[in-house]
Amino acid sequence: MTSEIGIDDLPIRDELRGKSPYGAPQLDVPVRLNTNENPYPLPEPLVERIAERVREAARTLNRYPDRDAVELRTALAAYLTRTAGHEVGPQQVWAANGSNEVLQQLLQTFAGPGRLAIGFEPSYSMHGLIARGTGTGWISGPRREDFRIDTEAATAAIAEHRPDVVFVTSPNNPTGTAVDAGTVLALHEAAQAAKPSLVVVDEAYVEFSHRPSLLPLIEGRPNLVVSRTMSKAFGAAGLRLGYLAAHPAVVDAVQLVRLPYHLSAVTQATALAALEHTDTLLGYVEALKAERDRLVAELLAAGYEVTESDANFVQFGRFEDAHAVWRSILDRGVLVRDNGVPGWLRVTAGTPQENDAFLDAVRALKKEQSS
Ligand SMILES: *Cc1c(COP(=O)(O)O)cnc(C)c1O
Repeated sequence: MTSEIGIDDLPIRDELRGKSPYGAPQLDVPVRLNTNENPYPLPEPLVERIAERVREAARTLNRYPDRDAVELRTALAAYLTRTAGHEVGPQQVWAANGSNEVLQQLLQTFAGPGRLAIGFEPSYSMHGLIARGTGTGWISGPRREDFRIDTEAATAAIAEHRPDVVFVTSPNNPTGTAVDAGTVLALHEAAQAAKPSLVVVDEAYVEFSHRPSLLPLIEGRPNLVVSRTMSKAFGAAGLRLGYLAAHPAVVDAVQLVRLPYHLSAVTQATALAALEHTDTLLGYVEALKAERDRLVAELLAAGYEVTESDANFVQFGRFEDAHAVWRSILDRGVLVRDNGVPGWLRVTAGTPQENDAFLDAVRALKKEQSS
């Protein structure tokens, strides 16, 4: 009868009691547009190349992997230099198992018990959860009605709470809103005046943006970090590879908390293979951007409100009861995401066929309501 014992019967940390783990519902539905994944499987030549590189890596699996992942960091630095309009060297790049691990390492290094982090919500809920997991206090900062960051209110919140880490997500999840460089600079300035503290710009979706990357802002600002991932634009969510770009001192600092050999040789080999196929993968990004724009146009034409999106998803509304609408769309075989933003839902740009199925569902809903 071990099932009668629950989490709260265990001697876990007090701040974890009564909490639920992160996770979108994984339902078996024909069309799943709820987790911002890339709908395109990796192309066959890349699958072949991964197999080749992993086979090579397998020959030395009796040894620990390159602890510093130098070859991979060099390839990531070259990718950033080529696409982000700023020269980045391998000593400015750090990689881990998903950008979530990168963010965790940053909080372990720069925050933790007795320290505070702030994010401007609604935003990526994992920022608050990783804060909790690392014993960091969490401040939910404000956002405007239109979901953009209110620079004045945000800098005031920084001055008031004097957080050790400031999260800025651009493009933001779940709203899709991008942040301009001026806003980031204002927040950075406020954060330096208040503490100084670390500003983390989470650019998980930047490849889908109409705007250039904020990466050049790291120049001359050792307390500004940009985090990236291969989970979205590179279509490799299953790979678990995230990375950051920052001053080399930040890369040295996170080494104080990273587990030794955290990035397996198989992961490094797979990521290197994917980076060899960057151009093909970025071609899919272009297709997804066009589909995102089509979703926006068609949702507006169908009479919905849409939040301007720079990501591979669209926030749409407004609904008196967003969860009931989420259900109705699900009843039509399409899974979207209810992020708990009152009045709004989020749909990920899928393949043209998946997006058609979604658009058919939401058009049918409108018809039902007006009849
Ligand atoms: C999806 C997402 C990530 C990616 O996390 P990984 O651990 O790299 O898969 C990071 N930040 C935001 C805002 C996201 O939406």
